[in-house]
Amino acid sequence: MRNYLKNKNIFFPIDKNFIRDKRLKIFKKTFGRINVFAKNKRHRGNILASVNKFKIIDCENCNFIHSWPIPSKQDLDNFYEKQFYESNRKKDYFSNQKRQIKWWDKIFLNRLEKFEDIIKKKGSIIDVGCGPGFFIKTAQKNGWKAHGIDPSPSVIKIAKQKLKLKNVKIMDYQDLVYEKKKYDIIYSNGVIEHIADPKKFLNILYKILKKRGILFLSAANDFNIFQYMSLKTTKKPWWIVPPEHINYFRVSDINKVFNKKKFKIKYLNTTFPIEVFLLMGDNYVKNKKLGKLSHFKRTAFEKNFEKLEMLNYREQIYKNFSDLGLGRAIEVIVQKK
Ligand SMILES: [Zn+2]
Repeated sequence: MRNYLKNKNIFFPIDKNFIRDKRLKIFKKTFGRINVFAKNKRHRGNILASVNKFKIIDCENCNFIHSWPIPSKQDLDNFYEKQFYESNRKKDYFSNQKRQIKWWDKIFLNRLEKFEDIIKKKGSIIDVGCGPGFFIKTAQKNGWKAHGIDPSPSVIKIAKQKLKLKNVKIMDYQDLVYEKKKYDIIYSNGVIEHIADPKKFLNILYKILKKRGILFLSAANDFNIFQYMSLKTTKKPWWIVPPEHINYFRVSDINKVFNKKKFKIKYLNTTFPIEVFLLMGDNYVKNKKLGKLSHFKRTAFEKNFEKLEMLNYREQIYKNFSDLGLGRAIEVIVQKK
C-alpha cells in the first residue's frame, strides 16, 4: 500500500525513502477507493482528487494514475475534433511553437542523435500524434524518412499548408493495427496522457515497430513533489485536466507501463523542473506573462550548457532530478526486444 502527502485536497503518492522528515503528515488513506470492472478491465485504487465530474485514481491494476470514468471514444472524438486545437489554451499553439522553433529544433536534433546512436543509422520514423508536424520537418531536413499521423483534421491541415508536409495524414492510432509497414522509430510526444487505454496503445505501437526498433515517448511528470509544494501558491491543481489528460505518469510508475518481455528501457530522464518558478513566487498558473517569462529564463539557463558544450553535464543534473521524481516531463526511449 502506498503512502500519500496531502495539500489543498489533493493526495500525492510518495516513494519510499524520498521523504524521511518525521514532522510531515503522511497519509495511508485518501478520500476513498474505487473498484470497478469495465470493458474487461478492473480499475481499483485510492482516489487522489476530484476535478469536474472526474475522480483521479491511483490505479493499482494499471500501475499509473488515471481518471475515472475513462471518457468514451465518442467523448474523446468530439473533444479532439471540435475543441482541442480550437480551445483558448491551444489557440496559439502553432504560432508559439513557430516562434520557439530554434529552441525546439535543438531538442529535436538531440533526440534524433540519441535514436541514431541506438540504431546506428537514419531510418524510418512515424510520429504518432504529430500535431502541426514540426518534428517531422526537422527529421526530414536531417535525412530521416519521417511520416506522421494525428486524429485532428485541423492540425493536419496546418501541417500540409503551413509546413508543406506531404507524409502526414488524419488517422487515429487505433487504425495503425491495419498498417503493413514497420518502422525503425516510433515517436510520440505528449500523447499517452490523452489516450483512453495506454496498454492497448503500446501493444499497437509494438506491432508496427521493427525488431530492435525504438519507441520514444514523452509525457508530463505529474503528482510530483514540486507540484505538491506549489499548491500553496497556486491553490488549484492546474495539471489535472480531464478529459484532456486522462492519465498521469510519475517517474517511478513509467517503468511499470512497459512490458519487460517486449521492451527494454534504453533511456529515461526528465526535463527542467519548471515548477521551481512557482516555488520562487512566480505564479505562472495565474499569470500568463509569468509563464512566458519562466519559459524564457529556463531556456536562458539551458543555453549556458550549450555555449560551453556541457550538454552531458546538463543531462546529469536532470537525471538527478528525475531520480527524485522531479522534472516537468518524462522522456523515455525503449527498444523492442
Ligand atoms: Zn486502471
